[in-house]
Amino acid sequence: MTSLFHQIIFRPVRSRRLGLSLGVNLLPTESKLCSFDCIYCECGWNAEHPGARRFNARTDVREQLETTLRRMAADGTPPDVITFAGNGEPTLHPEFEAVIDDTLALRDALCPTAKVSVLSNATQLHRDEVRRALLRVDNNILKLDSAFDETVRRMNNPQNPAYSVSRVVGQMKAFEGRMILQTMFLRGVCNGLPVDNTTEEEVAAWLRLVAEIRPRQVMIYSLDRDTPCPTLEKVAREELQAIAARVEASGIPCSVA
Ligand code: SF4
Repeated sequence: MTSLFHQIIFRPVRSRRLGLSLGVNLLPTESKLCSFDCIYCECGWNAEHPGARRFNARTDVREQLETTLRRMAADGTPPDVITFAGNGEPTLHPEFEAVIDDTLALRDALCPTAKVSVLSNATQLHRDEVRRALLRVDNNILKLDSAFDETVRRMNNPQNPAYSVSRVVGQMKAFEGRMILQTMFLRGVCNGLPVDNTTEEEVAAWLRLVAEIRPRQVMIYSLDRDTPCPTLEKVAREELQAIAARVEASGIPCSVA
């Protein structure tokens, strides 16, 4: 069963990798809103969520975040990281830059040691205000699952038919290393079509793009929770570690989640 996040601010979660993480959802709390429709999306297919398309208002996000950060600071448990994720693509929010500025101001005032992370599918990098905002956060984490347009179409179902990997790679290069690249590896069948971004052809082409983009870090992972497409396979940790070693050989740190 896939599931949605039903709040603007999620309950803080502690993990070994991130420490205490506070999630922020700018997307509808009862629906999903994304410019991709990934076959592995934990929120389910876009078509399952035809409902409310309202983004959470900037003032609601600021007020709820302030209340939560004040409480966490008072309890002596400030978050280690504030992460924008949730029911879809956060950078689609029409006031994304202003929301980020509010968040950075609250962080500086209330929990100055917390990092601010954004998990994005990199489809809005053509918008100046999105690029500016992503340059201000501590962890600008951008998704790219394959070097091949056809594989991205199978894995991510970009909603814009004009989507192209080469355009996104150009936009990523413009960050001049001030970004983290995130890639999901998987294999299986979806809608009757095979999908596998772990073949040598795929990995070699992806490594070439990593070397071109030169992010400050790469994060790779495989399936963890339920996916809308039930016939996908998780890639073994050893296989992910072998890919990570090839990234690190080019001098870029790579973590396996
Ligand atoms: S980009 Fe993220 S939220 Fe959007 S469909 Fe893919 S996994 Fe889901």
